Amino acid sequence: MAITLFDGADHANIWLEDLDLGEAVQANQHMIIHGREAMLLDPGGPKTFRHAYPEALSLLGHAKITRLFLSHQDPDIVAALNPWLASTNAIAHVSRLWMRFLPHFGLDRVMAQACHPIPDEGGVLDLDGAELIVIPAHYLHSAGNFQVYDPTSKILYSGDLGASFGNDYHEVTDFDRHLEHMAGFHRRYMANATAVSRWAALARQLDIEIIAPQHGACLRGRELVARFIDWCDGLPCGTDLLEPYAMPTTRLN
Ligand code: FE
Repeated sequence: MAITLFDGADHANIWLEDLDLGEAVQANQHMIIHGREAMLLDPGGPKTFRHAYPEALSLLGHAKITRLFLSHQDPDIVAALNPWLASTNAIAHVSRLWMRFLPHFGLDRVMAQACHPIPDEGGVLDLDGAELIVIPAHYLHSAGNFQVYDPTSKILYSGDLGASFGNDYHEVTDFDRHLEHMAGFHRRYMANATAVSRWAALARQLDIEIIAPQHGACLRGRELVARFIDWCDGLPCGTDLLEPYAMPTTRLN
């Protein structure tokens, strides 16, 4: 099912959600369409491609997918990069850190040339005249990790930051109750309080209406956005919570 998050003159932000992934983790695909160009964010793996590709095509109108954005290198994001590139003639943007790893997903030389490295400091992309800001969110959770802020719709595509699991709603209404679906993931997957605090300082400089993560529900409205940023800022997570290891004794199957 496709959900329109923003619909303006010549600009649309569409959420492709609830694609049936069987045992695979739930994942959101997002598409920004401006004029005659579209960018697909975190396109997903082969299971997603079978559903998302025809659905994306049906929503494009006269636009073409010219850019793929990969927030980081996880399989639920990049595993179907080869068929996406082959089917769209798009170029893909990914952290420079992952350029030499992506060819392991079967990219041949031509496909590898379609991948453009994002420098650590991020940058600005042009989508048929609309600017999209690629902002650094390193170690949240990947060492080379980016988010996309769309100034037209005021949507921040936050990748794994803000991800929630086990909830069956599309938009957060009760932040305190929503925390139970976010907290465990963030404590384990996000690198540490320094990383989330660096992100929070940058996010506060953006005018954000919606935070749209790659898993689970969106946060809509200034109040929820501010609460989320405040919650992230200084959150003990990842290496902050590491205890000394004990020598393993459990037999593994
Ligand atoms: Fe990930």
